[in-house]
Amino acid sequence: MKGENHDRRTENGDPGAKSSAWPPLQLQRIRQEIPAGRQGGQAPLREVRPLRHRTRSADGGKAAPARAAHQSRFLMRRRSGSCLCGAVAYSVEGEPLRVGLCHCADCRKSSGSAFVFFAVWPRPAFSHTGQIATFAGRSFCPACGGRLFCLQEETVEIRLGSLDSPPTDLEPTYELWIKRREAWLRELPGAKQYAEDVN
Ligand SMILES: [Zn+2]
Ligand SMILES: [Zn+2]
Repeated sequence: MKGENHDRRTENGDPGAKSSAWPPLQLQRIRQEIPAGRQGGQAPLREVRPLRHRTRSADGGKAAPARAAHQSRFLMRRRSGSCLCGAVAYSVEGEPLRVGLCHCADCRKSSGSAFVFFAVWPRPAFSHTGQIATFAGRSFCPACGGRLFCLQEETVEIRLGSLDSPPTDLEPTYELWIKRREAWLRELPGAKQYAEDVN
């Protein structure tokens, strides 16, 4: 399994080595939006637009601080996923740090498909139920073999095909290991292209 890995994989043994492209500030900001003690609890099922897309309030923003604090507790987007047999289920709260496609040889082998569609969330945003098995950092359901996620110290990488209610509303902003991309697949418009990993 050596050689090809996308993103910051645990089997690289050096998860921080490739972190420069993803400023810790962004991670910190998103993590702060997750109220302590909410992980694994019941979250509201309401779907809301991301904070950055909200329009200015009618009162000119006077009540903004109090309202923002209130909303951060109740308007967190929650997405759920599961394996093929349903024995393992998970959820992630808030928006992902990044969404990508990876065409690397490991992703091909582990998925049995031509590429992997994935997104990364802060670890505290993630919770799961059911027994999982893990190979080379990649977790899956031992009963049905469905590939689910890669748990890392500070983040979790979700195989987005395992989200419930497809299609997702998430779009990749970058592609990795495009030198392994099938010739019949085209570059995704607007997505940053990397021959191998992000450096
Ligand atoms: Zn990959
Ligand atoms: Zn299963």
